[in-house]
Amino acid sequence: MGWSSFDIQPQVVSILRRAMNSGRTGHAYIFSGLAGTGKLEAAIRLAMSLNCETMRDGDHCEQCRSCSMIWKGSNPAENNYPDLLHLVPGEWEKQKSYTIVMDAVRAMSASIKSAPISARRRMVIIHDADVMNEDSQNAFLKTLEEPLEGLRTTFVLLTTRPDKLLPTIRSRCQEIKFRRIAPERIKAMLSSEYEIPGEGAAILAALSDGSMGKARELAKGDLLNERREWLQALDAAYGGDAETAMKLAEEIGSSRETFERFLEFLLLWHRDLLAYAGAGEDGHIINLDMLETLRRQTGILSQQTVMTQMEKVQEMLDYLPVNIRGDLALLDFFAPLLNRRKNR
Ligand SMILES: [Zn+2]
Repeated sequence: MGWSSFDIQPQVVSILRRAMNSGRTGHAYIFSGLAGTGKLEAAIRLAMSLNCETMRDGDHCEQCRSCSMIWKGSNPAENNYPDLLHLVPGEWEKQKSYTIVMDAVRAMSASIKSAPISARRRMVIIHDADVMNEDSQNAFLKTLEEPLEGLRTTFVLLTTRPDKLLPTIRSRCQEIKFRRIAPERIKAMLSSEYEIPGEGAAILAALSDGSMGKARELAKGDLLNERREWLQALDAAYGGDAETAMKLAEEIGSSRETFERFLEFLLLWHRDLLAYAGAGEDGHIINLDMLETLRRQTGILSQQTVMTQMEKVQEMLDYLPVNIRGDLALLDFFAPLLNRRKNR
């Protein structure tokens, strides 16, 4: 109950609890960090703590009327709590682009001029705050520059890219960094919420890169089966089977999303190859159900080759935003191993 049920970000909790206990919570926060690391939930729990009717030691009860209404209002579409305001990109009138327009910021600023309706402290959550353009940010800055004490309002800006915010905004906010969530914690969530057993959960947790959101996405998809098919093909390609390599490159390279998932999997797989080469089954191996394949490939590939392949995967991932041709990049990825077999 309360902060103790939000155990994915212990450091964040300790900062916010300390602030609550000393009665010195900030007027404006930036919650920064990867998507899916609990930034919105932390903001909501802070709002609950600030308004809980039975607040004790800076903690919220989750039960009282304020707590339940704020919790329900964490989804902007279901928010009926008048003192919780969400500023969500792309939601202003007939707007089409994913931005927060200046008019939306101005409307929010105007609406907080009067005292909160029922809350002790109102909260304004700005989602993906970094998509505010300069005009919107300047409009928001004006609000921040006014005396905030009387407004009884706490602003929380959620962002994955705090560097896109104006320095003048950043200097007026307290930034709290959200770290990657521990794999064990993600694994536990996957087992309890999606009933994915041990090994599968460990693989998805490793692939979700510290993001609960990404883990949930992967859990809803078919990654575990996909991985089996990919590994079979990869195994053949690393054995020198050019036809399978080309077919795999073509299939995977044609969908950007599949390509990205495949690259992330490749990175993990090659890490396993290095771990296996170093310490055998005692290494820190994620794909524990694939020891036979790991053993075979470690026999074929030198450590240098594995590292070179990993660098290539990283390079492809780095180039993803510029829209590389997945099929061609993958053919290039397999090429040296296929030629090697020819030359033998
Ligand atoms: Zn409460």
